[in-house]
Amino acid sequence: MSTVYSFLKLNHYIRSIRVKLFGIWMLHCMGRRYFGLFLDPVLACNLRCRMCYFSDKNKRKNMKGALKETDLPLLARAFFHRALKLQIGCGAEPSLFRHNRKLIEMAKSCRVPYISMTTNGNLFSRADIHELVAAGLDEITLSLHGVRRKTYEYFMPGASFDKFLSTMECLTEIKSGFPSFKVRLNYTVNQDNLMELQDLFSILGQYKFDILQIRPIQQMGDTNYCNFSWNVIYDAYDRILEPLKINCRRQGITLLMPEKEDFLKTENKDTRIVDATYFYVRQGYFWQDDFDLNTETYESYAHRKHLSWRLLKSVFSKPAKAGEKRHLNYKVN
Ligand code: SF4
Repeated sequence: MSTVYSFLKLNHYIRSIRVKLFGIWMLHCMGRRYFGLFLDPVLACNLRCRMCYFSDKNKRKNMKGALKETDLPLLARAFFHRALKLQIGCGAEPSLFRHNRKLIEMAKSCRVPYISMTTNGNLFSRADIHELVAAGLDEITLSLHGVRRKTYEYFMPGASFDKFLSTMECLTEIKSGFPSFKVRLNYTVNQDNLMELQDLFSILGQYKFDILQIRPIQQMGDTNYCNFSWNVIYDAYDRILEPLKINCRRQGITLLMPEKEDFLKTENKDTRIVDATYFYVRQGYFWQDDFDLNTETYESYAHRKHLSWRLLKSVFSKPAKAGEKRHLNYKVN
């Protein structure tokens, strides 16, 4: 298991949020790496997945813009030396960005411990993937909304199941040349694609992947598919998801999935850890509204805004509540 997944596992076992926040404050003061840098280099996507805001015409109108090549050295100078992980592609499709190789090389030269990219994989050629892995990409996550061709292509309009399978084949080949390179599948589950998780290993078993994340559907706007209920998933948990756990364990695959009782929790989670460690970046927005990428670094901003004091104060403050989105605990199995 990679350091990042071991860290996630440890994070799950330390129950006290105050202890975790204290640890974050210490890491900040000691000049150590502690946050994840989540970057959308392009705010666009080639697909219109039915559960995603890219299927919402009004939301899509606001999704535009891309980082410039000249932003990359500024980002590296500002954040890379303190980032534990660089996540390329969070809420849009990074394969549309033309400077991914350069971005990865820069992160590698700044010794970011884990560089991951989330993509639908439909635009990448074999040569593209090979180039990114050779540049230092540690992990590719493929988004997947169905295990069977019909479901995959229904929930991901514009995507080709054949292309997905050929990408899996290519990643399987690449893994033999780069043994530490990880392949992860992110499966967004709803009541209509839940049952076919039973077929996951019979359909994809010939390909190599290391991590599987099962993500229950979340409401993301006025999306084309709008059955957001988790009731069916909860009711079928023992029948469908428990056997998946056993299968993943047998195959040595790390499974990230909420526990059954998490589906019943309606109160929002305390977001203080996420607030402290989730650094989001896109064109025109760099972690904070008032962060000036041209002149500032993490340290100068932290000094200007008394971040050390704010982090320490958060250890003793009341829980911070999230907005409408329901936050789940993903257990590392
Ligand atoms: S590939 Fe990802 S970002 Fe693109 S539409 Fe599908 S879910 Fe949304």
